Amino acid sequence: MSTLFISDLHLSAERENITKLFIAFLKERASHADALYILGDLFEVWPGDDIIQPDYQESISAMKQLADSGVAVFVMHGNRDFLMAEHFCEISGSTLIDDPSIIDLYGTPTLLMHGDTLCTDDSDYQKFRAMVRDPRWQQDFLSKSAEERLAIAEKYREISKTAMADKKMEIMDANQQAVESVMLEQNIQQLIHGHTHRPAVHDFNVNEKTMKRIVLGDWYEQGSVLSCDESGCRLESI
Ligand code: MN
Repeated sequence: MSTLFISDLHLSAERENITKLFIAFLKERASHADALYILGDLFEVWPGDDIIQPDYQESISAMKQLADSGVAVFVMHGNRDFLMAEHFCEISGSTLIDDPSIIDLYGTPTLLMHGDTLCTDDSDYQKFRAMVRDPRWQQDFLSKSAEERLAIAEKYREISKTAMADKKMEIMDANQQAVESVMLEQNIQQLIHGHTHRPAVHDFNVNEKTMKRIVLGDWYEQGSVLSCDESGCRLESI
């Protein structure tokens, strides 16, 4: 048996093939796993649990089917779908976990994160994040109509696209110091995160301790899956 980790699927109506790939993955590969962890940005846009877009329905039902079959499904907020809440968990059969969370991965304490909080060089993004993670901002946003919310989400997507085109690649990557400080703070030697869309396994040393940072890739270009069992972890692309 194994534990699977994926992130950054960015499911949307425009990427129907990724939805199909995700559903096939849930029905086949994931059905043989002990657990599935989705570490953020499962959906491109999540304007609130009360607006379930029709394009998401099939994926949500497939998640529920997997959960009902006995595979534990865990979901973490990403920077796109951080408004996923209780109703989503109910209909998808999944359990929302905090960012960061620590799990026991076959004997190795492992820190799970989406990864956006590690990109500390991107100060514009961190300011934006602080705004949209403020409960007052969220309350105000959720009180708006579906049309208004979708329009705001679309506006932020456009702003983010333009900003990303102007930013240097290094700025949008995880900051090594931020990585080391969170790992030391949590007293952990293994970290798994997504967000940067740069799938890799980074081995390094801090204070004579061996550290491992596993980065999941996205699904629309990299189809990244991390599979872990008693013998270790393998980063694959499907
Ligand atoms: Mn992300």
